[in-house]
Amino acid sequence: MRPSSPFGGELAFERIAKRFGSTAALHDVSLTVPDGSFCTLLGPSGCGKTTLLRIAAGFVDPDAGRVTLGGRDLADTPPSRRNMGFVFQSYALFPTKTVAENIAFPLSVRGAGRAAMAARVAELCALAGLEGLEGRYPHEVSGGQQQRVALARALAADPPVLLLDEPLAALDARIRQRLRAEVRRIVDEIGVTAIYVTHDQEEAIAVADQIVVMDRGVLRQAGRPEEIYLEPAHAFVASFVGASSRLACEVLDAGQIRLGPDVLAGTIKAPPGPGHAFLRPEDVVLDAGGRGAVVERAAFLGPVWRLTLRLGDGQALEAEIATPRWQATPLPPGTPVAWSVPPARLHVFAADDAGAERAP
Ligand code: ATP
Repeated sequence: MRPSSPFGGELAFERIAKRFGSTAALHDVSLTVPDGSFCTLLGPSGCGKTTLLRIAAGFVDPDAGRVTLGGRDLADTPPSRRNMGFVFQSYALFPTKTVAENIAFPLSVRGAGRAAMAARVAELCALAGLEGLEGRYPHEVSGGQQQRVALARALAADPPVLLLDEPLAALDARIRQRLRAEVRRIVDEIGVTAIYVTHDQEEAIAVADQIVVMDRGVLRQAGRPEEIYLEPAHAFVASFVGASSRLACEVLDAGQIRLGPDVLAGTIKAPPGPGHAFLRPEDVVLDAGGRGAVVERAAFLGPVWRLTLRLGDGQALEAEIATPRWQATPLPPGTPVAWSVPPARLHVFAADDAGAERAP
């Protein structure tokens, strides 16, 4: 499947560090991307995602650490010999080449024969839904189609690894949703190892086998989407991925926190002392036996109402309830309610944890 690549297999970053002047773009990043898997790098602008991708491709050299592919150190392998496919946000197509010529380009520079190129272009056009557009120029196809061309071109030479840097960011939301599923399907069919950079957590959750959450050059957590969402290992992850309320609390011994007048059980990853509790709106349960709060706002979101509850100590907690069928506004502002949360869904981190700052 990958005849032109000197190697393939698991891609590993080992203790990568990179500075640009006084900016630490990457700090001691270690990450393994299994062969044939789909990994997304997720994090806010400037957290080092693109730098890590460029180090994999060989465009940027790390100051420390190494990258291996199939166990082989890539340090002495220039970008052209790594043969990795790269897809950029700006499609970077050749404007004076047709769709077919763009896709064939990596093969033509390798001196592939005409028949082999034509066969590969036909195969990729079928795979990427570009049939019938082969003779058009980039300005004669849509943005989504241009990105399909860029993807097909990146796959033309059977790369061992496909690197995608915010490939869908320039497209509108509906096309983005459709195309991300397409990208995943195409990558699965080819069987290539993919690293996909995005700052959109919904996109990351939708496409990835493994999500890597980065924060200011530091890898905070790597795991399956459901692990990242349900078991955040760091305050930054709890804050950045999905909606959550962050409440100041005091961590007590024995897996409990004090929140205003209440003591609650939670999943505690902090020593006794000041902490931050993270609760997702869908995990907050309104039940008669819970703690007291007052509804401050009720916003209708279609399938659910998003309630803002004011707790006894003045902090705000977001909760969600399914839209009831029998009345328009289920709980008007001022209604006293009682709430609880399963301990496994209450994540507590130390208050001095730098990642507890709200992500932008
Ligand atoms: P974005 O989502 O905005 O593209 P990113 O997570 O991909 O961000 P990087 O592009 O990897 O972030 O940049 C990480 C940090 O390194 C940033 O602070 C950036 O300004 C800095 N940086 C990146 N490349 C260079 C460079 N060539 N020269 C100087 N600083 C750089």
